Amino acid sequence: MIPQNFEYSSPATLQEALGLLAGGSAKVLAGGMSLIPLMKLRLAAPEHVVDMSRVPGLAFIQQAQDGIHIGAMTTHYQIESSPVLRSGCPLLAETASHIGDVQVRNMGTIGGSVAHSDPAADYPAALFALEARVRLAGARGERTLAIGDFLVDTFTTALEPGEIVVEIVVPVESGAAGVSYQKMQQPASGFAIVGAAARVERSNGGIGFVRVGITGLASKAYRAANVESILQSTGDIEKAAAVAADGVDANSDLNASADYRRHMARVYTARALRQALARTS
Ligand SMILES: Cc1cc2nc3c(=O)[nH]c(=O)nc-3n(C[C@H](O)[C@H](O)[C@H](O)COP(=O)(O)OP(=O)(O)OC[C@H]3O[C@@H](n4cnc5c(N)ncnc54)[C@H](O)[C@@H]3O)c2cc1C
Repeated sequence: MIPQNFEYSSPATLQEALGLLAGGSAKVLAGGMSLIPLMKLRLAAPEHVVDMSRVPGLAFIQQAQDGIHIGAMTTHYQIESSPVLRSGCPLLAETASHIGDVQVRNMGTIGGSVAHSDPAADYPAALFALEARVRLAGARGERTLAIGDFLVDTFTTALEPGEIVVEIVVPVESGAAGVSYQKMQQPASGFAIVGAAARVERSNGGIGFVRVGITGLASKAYRAANVESILQSTGDIEKAAAVAADGVDANSDLNASADYRRHMARVYTARALRQALARTS
């Protein structure tokens, strides 16, 4: 399939890119792994595409006092293989390694993935468990949102017309934490039918800290606070995972019914918690 005709710009600076996007009618092109197929299928038909690949300073992974900053144009492969993330935030590196295939991981970017807000994307589970922040820039300035405020719904984010994602910030994990991302994947694409991310720390023989994020089940990923509080108070993985899908309006499609997804959310949450606990030191 051939996309509809469009204007193409390849700005050399962020300012130039923001200027081109300011009208709100142009679309950002990052790795193209989601946008190009949509354009070829004519499910998206932007009049103007702004390619970010020549804009410097958007592909980086840097540790700072407030966490690890990851530029929007950083590829899944760079995240998966980064020594800074592997030691400081292994949950994100592990999650990136589960995305699609090697071609997708070499081209696709974290900024493109969160901006696309696919309900079956992998990163959101980890980003909820990590309580990540998303920094946005537009012609009128910058703002930072919590991941839960940034992801609004299926294919919908809090991005205003003309705004772009510039970086994601995740915390530096304490050495004692155990983490795990477990997903049931669609066999052809690798997208998550359900995926669960867990971060756990032990304390005085019990659970000191736990965060759980779940993707694939609903119209957007979410933090499973009910799972966290049951695990923290009882230490019982099965009891905690049993409430992973409670109160959630589950998606139903050709890959899985809502009931099956709810069941698998419980199964994969238990797996993620079990593995994260086994990895605590
Ligand atoms: C075969 C295949 C398998 C895949 N499997 C998986 C999988 O298993 N798990 C998974 O999570 N994902 C999967 N993906 C999706 C992949 O992760 C994409 O890389 C990602 O969804 C989009 O990133 P991108 O950089 O390619 O963005 P693009 O396709 O370039 O852009 C996607 C959307 O985001 C917007 N955008 C891009 N960057 C920015 C920015 N910085 N600021 C504002 N808006 C922006 C674009 O305008 C567009 O609307 C798969 C894709 C393919 C083709």
